Amino acid sequence: MKLTGVIGQRRALSQLQGELEAQRLAHAYMFVGPGGVGRATTAQALFAAMNCAEPTPEGPCGHCGPCHRLAAGTHEDFLVVAPPSQARSSQIKVEAVREAIRATGFAPFGGGKRLILIKQAGHLNPASANALLKTLEEPPPNNILVLTVSDAKELLPTLVSRCRKVNFLPLTAEEIAAELVRRGQDETDARLKSGLAGGSLGRALEMDTEALRRDLARLIDQLGAGGQALEDWGFAEELVGAHRGSGGIDREGISQALDLLALYFRDAAVSAAGRDGLTWLPGRPASLDIESACRAFARVRRAQGQILGNAAPELALVVLLAGLKEAPTHA
Ligand SMILES: [Zn+2]
Repeated sequence: MKLTGVIGQRRALSQLQGELEAQRLAHAYMFVGPGGVGRATTAQALFAAMNCAEPTPEGPCGHCGPCHRLAAGTHEDFLVVAPPSQARSSQIKVEAVREAIRATGFAPFGGGKRLILIKQAGHLNPASANALLKTLEEPPPNNILVLTVSDAKELLPTLVSRCRKVNFLPLTAEEIAAELVRRGQDETDARLKSGLAGGSLGRALEMDTEALRRDLARLIDQLGAGGQALEDWGFAEELVGAHRGSGGIDREGISQALDLLALYFRDAAVSAAGRDGLTWLPGRPASLDIESACRAFARVRRAQGQILGNAAPELALVVLLAGLKEAPTHA
């Protein structure tokens, strides 16, 4: 039975499909890879392949009872455990794990297989990891556990050793752009987002293109504004202020705004080289020689590193702007 509905990830899919066809699926899997690349979707595809009532040669039918309930998120044998929020400190509580484990005490309701998906398993606290340990060791028949992590190091070695590993890779920009267009998004926006998404469809789907364009336009304007350090400082404070919330400064958010500027200089380099492959940023990239464009790109990346580290973001921005203005980086 084919696994369907997953973008890219040919290797992970062929591993799982091979194991499914040979009836050699493991009782527990660890899906390792960055967020938003299809780990949870693959767990769903695996569940559908195991439980569809009217499978076709192309894969699950998509319209039988089990397929319907899975798509609606109401299938009683597809259980999802996840941290309560996106915050880094958010932990998967032991009660949530115990509740899922209790379900394995009964045969699957649909008469097929049950799949328990533990998302962001790196957020298991010691108590919840412990609660999971015994089930991972000898899960009752017809139950499969899937843990998603971005790195195996997030899990205790005792958990890792009980799971079979499947690796997931970042998606290509082309795969992401094609999927966004398939979902009805404008092609220019799709190209822009796919260039910024770092291989994660999930991240691309969350992006607000209007806000991104606004951020870029402001940065470019500021670059063209001449060399007044005082104005640059005001601009930097304003930009940082726009990314300040109750939880402090959103360094990721500022870095994302700079991603766009990096992309702008990347486009300038590509255009100077006379090559195809522009990312469809608004307006034309600055007309620079390749060396200047690459140097500017590197400056932006360096500033991002400082901002994501512990540098004062205003200072990193002012230094970046001064550096970019000093070199002939803006036409
Ligand atoms: Zn079906």
